[in-house]
Amino acid sequence: MAERAGTEPSVFTRILRGEIPGEIVLQTDDVFVLKDIAPKAPVHLLVIPKTDAYRDVTELAAGDPRLLAHLVEVAETVAAQAGLDSFRLIFNTGLAAGQTVFHVHAHVLGAGAGGTLDEASMTAGMPGEGRDT
Ligand code: AMP
Repeated sequence: MAERAGTEPSVFTRILRGEIPGEIVLQTDDVFVLKDIAPKAPVHLLVIPKTDAYRDVTELAAGDPRLLAHLVEVAETVAAQAGLDSFRLIFNTGLAAGQTVFHVHAHVLGAGAGGTLDEASMTAGMPGEGRDT
């Protein structure tokens, strides 16, 4: 689907187009997987639809549930490729919940082969993270 009229392309779209650097580790026709630039766990990947028509997972679920299911399937595939048998799959949804890029994406967080996520990785991206209150 086309970019939303009147909006700038997202950072993820610009990486997909090759306009800015990024490490894409897997692509299907509809989804790509990017290494997060600021990893919060030993494995931190972003699974992103190629379309940026959907700002968050609620819009994606309502607008294209098959694409959402495909995104989850790709998350499982890259997690397995990264040696994870357990992983967190996170959709930050809305500014106050920590969403910073309004092009829907899933975070895949994992400890790597045989490991366990530490507390910081378990709370990564949560509102209030790093604050005393
Ligand atoms: P969220 O805060 O849920 O919207 O997640 C956005 C994620 O995108 C953050 O974890 C950022 O570290 C990541 N990110 C932002 N810019 C880039 C980039 N240029 N390359 C890779 N990851 C990025």
